[in-house]
Amino acid sequence: MFVDKVRITVIGGRGGDGAVAFHREKYVASGGPDGGDGGHGGSVILRVNDNMSTLLDFRYKRKYAAQSGDNGRGNHMSGKRGAPLIIEVPRGTVVRDAETNQIIVDMSTGEDFVIAKGGRGGWGNAHYATATRQVPRFAKAGVKGQERDVIMELKLLADVGLVGFPNVGKSTLLSVTSNARPKIANYHFTTLFPNLGVIYVDEGVSFVMADIPGIIEGAAEGAGLGHDFLRHIDRCRLLVHVVDVSGSEARDPVEDFHAICEELKNYSVDLSNRPMIVAANKIDLMMPESDNLERLKKAVEEAGCELYEISAGTTQGTRNLMRVVAEKLRTLPPVTIYEPEYVEPEVEAGDPQDLEIEHLGSTWVITGVWLERLVQNINFDDYESRNFFDLQLRKCGLFARLEEMGIADGDTVDIYDFQFEYQR
Ligand code: GDP
Ligand code: MG
Repeated sequence: MFVDKVRITVIGGRGGDGAVAFHREKYVASGGPDGGDGGHGGSVILRVNDNMSTLLDFRYKRKYAAQSGDNGRGNHMSGKRGAPLIIEVPRGTVVRDAETNQIIVDMSTGEDFVIAKGGRGGWGNAHYATATRQVPRFAKAGVKGQERDVIMELKLLADVGLVGFPNVGKSTLLSVTSNARPKIANYHFTTLFPNLGVIYVDEGVSFVMADIPGIIEGAAEGAGLGHDFLRHIDRCRLLVHVVDVSGSEARDPVEDFHAICEELKNYSVDLSNRPMIVAANKIDLMMPESDNLERLKKAVEEAGCELYEISAGTTQGTRNLMRVVAEKLRTLPPVTIYEPEYVEPEVEAGDPQDLEIEHLGSTWVITGVWLERLVQNINFDDYESRNFFDLQLRKCGLFARLEEMGIADGDTVDIYDFQFEYQR
């Protein structure tokens, strides 16, 4: 079975809790705090696996959670970091946010992508020992990992897409010109999933051609098989439209040509404007008295395309067609890689009255539900992100509240292990 669209949930691992512990040793009256930090939760990571060609593996398993970080322990022992969860996907998988449908990432380049970040581990009480507070009974809980629903869609990476009615000879053309060995038979829909073939034209000149299941009328409206498969030619730089010019199936080639063009247009205007070459196939079966070829030529010309006569069955004209295709490709832009559209929604600060503020010596430890969420969305290695965070805290009146409580310049503010010196 071929599966090329799935919806899954990805969940980063929870950060481990920090430990509250105290050094214990014989003959040592009272040891200092030595609770270790919780380990960070593992992230969920997407990785391309070129041996995969469908999203079938995701059909029955919908939830993908990375490991949590272990809790910290006494004796300064940090909790183990949660293992990342690597999800392998076929090259060309486009990942969207399920709510907004915006593209998060196009897994085409082969780079790993963090799709759900693990939560930070909480600090143990060893971090909170200060000169004035020797015995902090205080440690922090780990932060939850990121959770999101995503839709994954496979969009093949091919330079050329073969389109046309079932049985016109698309699979045959791919098989005689490339290394691919698609199923060929004299009945409709032998191709139930796309085939990719590499075509070597000359030394150093090659391209990838995709054979997708036949488009039938009404495919763009969701009838039959064709619709789902049209997404596989979304990225193609050039379409080769195969028409059975012999009329061997008692259909009219001109009507077929127009019907497919119409389907493409209904599916997407963008696709219908894609450069197209027409392959008039099965010329070996042409009846001498037939005017099919002349009529098709006229229709194709009117549509502004070029027509090449071929017989995929006898390979007549196929090599020439592939040369023409390669030549054309040289002038066309590369295969589309989709730009990410998704931007993390900005989590805004809430009411500072909802926060818990603990005063430990000169350190002010602040926790709370909205603050945790805000922290999850901040990348503290990034200057702009930090600035945004600072601005949010100022705007919401947290600092005013701290002042009321008596914070002094130079005190430490601690927000989920992000620490900074307070300056008025
Ligand atoms: P697809 O559905 O478009 O992939 O069509 P296939 O490649 O599976 O071909 C359908 C049938 O037409 C098969 O029986 C092929 O052998 C036959 N066929 C394809 N091309 C030609 C051709 O150029 N000449 C002849 N005589 N038969 C062909
Ligand atoms: Mg086929």
